[in-house]
Amino acid sequence: MALVKVNELLKDATEHHYGVPAINTFNFETIKYIVAGAEQEHMPVIVQYYPGFKDYVPLALVSAIARHYAERASVPVAVHLDHSAGYDIAVGGIRDGFPSVMVDGSSLPYEENVALTRAVAEVGKVFDVDIEAELGHVGDGSNADDFIGSDMYTDPDQAAEFVERTGCGSLAIAVGNAHGPYVKTPNLDMQRIKDVRAAVEVPLVMHGCSDIPDEQLQETVNLGMSKYNIATEYFRAMYRSLEKNIDSQVYDGNGFGLFNEIGADMTAFVASKIRLLNPNGYSL
Ligand SMILES: [Zn+2]
Repeated sequence: MALVKVNELLKDATEHHYGVPAINTFNFETIKYIVAGAEQEHMPVIVQYYPGFKDYVPLALVSAIARHYAERASVPVAVHLDHSAGYDIAVGGIRDGFPSVMVDGSSLPYEENVALTRAVAEVGKVFDVDIEAELGHVGDGSNADDFIGSDMYTDPDQAAEFVERTGCGSLAIAVGNAHGPYVKTPNLDMQRIKDVRAAVEVPLVMHGCSDIPDEQLQETVNLGMSKYNIATEYFRAMYRSLEKNIDSQVYDGNGFGLFNEIGADMTAFVASKIRLLNPNGYSL
């Protein structure tokens, strides 16, 4: 199995109507348990890293650890660099060994987003690296105006033109989703997902999946979306597991024991997301 390309995974997922969780990592443990959860469910997964955390752990180190685990996994695992907010970050991610990179020009004016995405996609072609882009803008769940109402939602016709002009390999869309904890339960625009799905060929990506109600996520899988970014809930699962194990005092004073103990909870979290995003029971 081993390390596979993000777009190869997503094309298979689109064809067979399941979603692939793309789970954010920030250290060795969070990588290890993403892969363990996928192996437990015998389904694919994507390990991804947000470059804004580079001062905590360098990109090259994360890509090396993630690729190490992916290459040895019993299921297909892909490795991806999340939200790269400019050319240097995105191309730097390619230099640092990420086989897939998101370039995020979604807060730029449309033509600038096109130009940035196209430039990064051209470098991606040279190095055989998959490029995810974003059109419309996925905002912040702490601000209701960012995800309720359609001002920042993806326009289907513009999406078709954007994919054509940029050559991006997958597209993140704004359809009522947002990053981080939501101040109000999101209500995804299913009709818009259908319209964008009908307008473009490339795999579609949902950012901000944490805390979106399960039945809404499953409906979007059946509408043909295939990559599901999860950070907030995974980080929360880690925090809660540490909290529980500190409270128990079984490993009082033993940091190694404590970190070993969170493995079961973290793996179970990943496994639950894989099952959630596979409502039709696909198996490899
Ligand atoms: Zn995102």
